[in-house]
Amino acid sequence: MAKIKKKVKVIKIDLAKCNGCRACEVACSALHAKPKYSSNNPARSRIRLIRDPLKDVYLPVYAGEYTKAECTGRDKYVIDGKEYNECDFCRASCPSRDLFKEPDSGLPLKCDMCEDDPPQEKPLCVQWCLNDALTYEEREEEVEEEVKPEDVEIGVESMVDKYGLQKVMDTVARMTKKE
Ligand code: SF4
Ligand code: SF4
Repeated sequence: MAKIKKKVKVIKIDLAKCNGCRACEVACSALHAKPKYSSNNPARSRIRLIRDPLKDVYLPVYAGEYTKAECTGRDKYVIDGKEYNECDFCRASCPSRDLFKEPDSGLPLKCDMCEDDPPQEKPLCVQWCLNDALTYEEREEEVEEEVKPEDVEIGVESMVDKYGLQKVMDTVARMTKKE
């Protein structure tokens, strides 16, 4: 299968630089407000800050996929002497917590990398993180080209144009015939 280049967008999080200012939450929720910038409720943000100021824990987390089942295990992580729960790092909108749920409807929220209309040149949370705890990177990866159903249709159409419907049908029948 043919390989194509795909642009991968990455937001790098440097915990040591995050001071818990929550500007990222404000910016994201304002961008996604309807109408845009009409309100700034962090509960509607697609990035949330796990914070415990007494323990100097500030952990920005991006909203990922919705999951209807919660995990059964609970692990703890200790990094640089600071303790985190497994759920702290989790990006899922899941039944066991209120994080990443639209407060009025309860619908799951997911970070769209600010690709909404019009797309931002750089994610807004990154632009507003004045401490550079969030930095934006783009890289290219080689992936296998996805065959879209419409491409298959166009391919079949052009074969029919070239060889005629009967010949294409006979060939497909021969290929799919059981031995
Ligand atoms: S804007 Fe930056 S420093 Fe402030 S809470 Fe968000 S990630 Fe942390
Ligand atoms: S990248 Fe955009 S959508 Fe995602 S959390 Fe940041 S501001 Fe929100």
